[in-house]
Amino acid sequence: MSKTLKELVKIRKIPFDKEQLARVAKAYEFAKKAHAGQKRKNGVDDYFEHCVETAAIIAKMGLGSISTAAALLHDVPEDTSYTMEDIEREFGKDVAFVIDGVTKVGKVRLRENAQEYFLENLRKMFLAMAADIRVVLIKIADRLHNMRTLDCLPEKKRERIAKETMEIFVPIANRLGIGEVKGELEDLSFKYLDPENYKKIVKLENEAFAERQSYVNKAMKELQEEFRREKLKLIDIHGRAKHYYSLFTKLQDHDMDISKIHDLSAIRIIFPTVANCYEALGIVHKRYNPLIGRIKDYISLPKPNGYRSIHTTVFGPEGKILEIQIRTERMHDEAEYGIAAHWIYSEKKTWKDFIVGKKKDVDIPEDQLRWITQLREWQRETGGQTDEFWASLKIDFFKNHIFAFTPKGDVIDLPEKATPVDFAYQIHTEVGDRMESVKINGRMVSLSHEIHNGDVVEVITSKENKMPNRDWLKFAKTVQAKSKIKASLRKHGIEVV
Ligand code: MN
Repeated sequence: MSKTLKELVKIRKIPFDKEQLARVAKAYEFAKKAHAGQKRKNGVDDYFEHCVETAAIIAKMGLGSISTAAALLHDVPEDTSYTMEDIEREFGKDVAFVIDGVTKVGKVRLRENAQEYFLENLRKMFLAMAADIRVVLIKIADRLHNMRTLDCLPEKKRERIAKETMEIFVPIANRLGIGEVKGELEDLSFKYLDPENYKKIVKLENEAFAERQSYVNKAMKELQEEFRREKLKLIDIHGRAKHYYSLFTKLQDHDMDISKIHDLSAIRIIFPTVANCYEALGIVHKRYNPLIGRIKDYISLPKPNGYRSIHTTVFGPEGKILEIQIRTERMHDEAEYGIAAHWIYSEKKTWKDFIVGKKKDVDIPEDQLRWITQLREWQRETGGQTDEFWASLKIDFFKNHIFAFTPKGDVIDLPEKATPVDFAYQIHTEVGDRMESVKINGRMVSLSHEIHNGDVVEVITSKENKMPNRDWLKFAKTVQAKSKIKASLRKHGIEVV
């Protein structure tokens, strides 16, 4: 059963105003009508449920009404009889723009046996094509729901999708600092990619966790007493289990010996203010001795993806080792789902300071750092949480690049304003020399046509003619294409300068 409109909008922490609510309501009804009668691949669930669940994830992340509406409608142009034009007419340019991005990014596919450098290209391309942070987040939400319901899809497809999730979506979610989403995507991929180890880890963790449960409860009680005595108010205290995949990778570093994992069950304590967090750290350490070198203050030194929290490992009740995480409610929300709020506080240090000399998993490419810094600035200017804020988050670090597809789905990286001539020579000299005509997105266009991000370019070659046209030099943009055209013309005895 799909969530009702009322259930859906309630998920967002900050309520929509009247106008925003009307937009979401209209999208809800439109998507319901457009997908009426459609079932998911398992033949049981209504397709519409997928639309609502995707929108629910977006609402939970705190995105605005345009994004929530776009999430509800994200599969309409591809899978129903309604077109992009219909959406633009009904919902306006902004919603249409976001959905158009989602549709285009949907073409980014992981090819088998892709090399690491190619994967990085694909991630870049994903972000570049998205052109807008809302598009990225809707794609992530779409993927998360598809992963949660992967059994709905044919078996053949499952592994490909799980692999693509692990290689493309998990690193992007990580860079955006949406830890809870990243962890869930990772665990779901793990389940399908390595079912044997997945089962082993689930069993291991559940046993160890059950064993530790009463111990964790005891520690929580002792800590609560301590805070009460010191008159320090807390918002929440709870035990948290480690994500399966992250436990698996940690175990691999520790000879698969679970007794060596200190943060298997951690206690998480949420306080109203940052000052409370530091005060709480002192109280925790007064009660339980800390392990030397295990205090991590990600509040004053956030992780590059914005994660903030204080972690400490202590000798808890009975001298057993226990990890404790201390944070404010806002930090907690950010770590779980939010990306907007990360950038509100300005750190004195630059992001680069966090990167230099650190491990490779925090090594974020320079261009992405710039993007993150920019996000933070925009956030500060606009106050965040509004549709305007989200609309302002254009991803422009690949501004001078466009990415186009071959009909097989290979990604071709081109400079701005490139034409089919550039595209053809990028594939192969032979393809360029023999090019006769070209189709873009299935339509015949001239060879001087400007290629846009996400276009599918099909070069039609001639069997007889092996010679480029001299005029092509006028609209080739890349040095590579120009020099290849000239070389080819010279070979045929045509003088060119
Ligand atoms: Mn979808």
